[in-house]
Amino acid sequence: MNILVLNCGSSSIKYQVIKIETETLLAKGLVERIGAEETIFNYQKSGSDKIKSVAAGINYEKAISGVIATLTDVKIGVLKSINEIDAIGHRVVHGGEYFFKSVLIDDLVEKRIEECIDIAPLHNPANLQGIKIFRKLLPDTPNVAVFDTAFHQTMPKVSYIYPLPYNLYNKYKIRRYGFHGTSHRYVAEQAAVKLGKPLSRCNLITCHLGNGCSVTAIQNGISIDTSMGFTPLEGLMMGTRSGDIDPYIVLYLMEKEDLAIDEVNSLLNKQSGLLGVSGISNDIRLIWDEANKGNDQAKLASEIFIYRLKKYIGSYLAVLGRVDAIVFTAGIGENDEIIREKSLADMENFGIIVDKNKNTELNRQEGEISTPESKVKVYIIPTNEELAIARDTKTIVENHRT
Ligand code: AMP
Repeated sequence: MNILVLNCGSSSIKYQVIKIETETLLAKGLVERIGAEETIFNYQKSGSDKIKSVAAGINYEKAISGVIATLTDVKIGVLKSINEIDAIGHRVVHGGEYFFKSVLIDDLVEKRIEECIDIAPLHNPANLQGIKIFRKLLPDTPNVAVFDTAFHQTMPKVSYIYPLPYNLYNKYKIRRYGFHGTSHRYVAEQAAVKLGKPLSRCNLITCHLGNGCSVTAIQNGISIDTSMGFTPLEGLMMGTRSGDIDPYIVLYLMEKEDLAIDEVNSLLNKQSGLLGVSGISNDIRLIWDEANKGNDQAKLASEIFIYRLKKYIGSYLAVLGRVDAIVFTAGIGENDEIIREKSLADMENFGIIVDKNKNTELNRQEGEISTPESKVKVYIIPTNEELAIARDTKTIVENHRT
């Protein structure tokens, strides 16, 4: 079964074709700057070199036609025809309270995703656009939606209701939803395999540290709390997002600086976090470079990032009581040994001891980085959201057939 995994953003389309029986990646690509003067098509057939091309006047439909033309091209393609796509797995950012797992897309599902646009205005419209185009293009091919929020729908009310007037929850569905769910679930499943017990008996703290960052507390295999909330702005300090701040700062700044809503939005989502504090970049590598040269603001940015991560890990240790493993994943989690080491430093009394040598040796790989004495195992597990989406798509399509 060939599964096309699609991640449709407002101006980009990320995709992979996976032969799911063997979990083999056949090809992957990224279309960037859709709708701009020049659109960039990146493509790589497994085992071949990357190919890059540029085209003008590309809207969303044309971008998808371009992807299909590439995938079915006699020279560089991996499919003989479009009919060799057996199912399509769509990443959908927000499923609201409607979806607690992945689903086969029909008209009602499409309507529900549309209803969630209100609370995910930046992501759901693009996700929906991809769904609509493919349902029209291949009406007999099943489409599956895999939601970033679904894994966290098991959170109890005590962690998802904000201490605001309760009627706001009823009226606007203002509550904590959590994101990165597909990644947290994927690494949790992999961690359970390493621990040698079913996920339903594992207590885990999973740290997805990329440009966006979130931590999840998993009890008996299900998410009971996560650091992102109503939007992906809450929680940890991130590349360009502030994470937790006193909400009054927003009111204060709006008054003092006469800021409009979109200016505050940009301040909190695009100009804060590592970039905001360091004044250098959202990329931790560039921040380390400057910190090592003696730049105090760069050093401070890294220290705040680590301190806030440690606080969340500590609070989830308290919430869970017993923790089998802590998992690091995504760009920073997989590649930055200093962040891993420092965020878990001096936690021997909580049963957490990182083996510094293993942490360095295993950087960028998968494996255990705790000492044999550490009661809580610490793992690096590279995330693979595309594979998780493809696996869900296969399961749902097969269940639907039987
Ligand atoms: P992601 O969103 O998972 O792609 O992660 C992107 C972030 O990961 C970048 O902004 C960097 O801060 C970080 N990152 C990526 N590669 C490395 C690396 N080799 N070493 C340290 N950090 C990295």
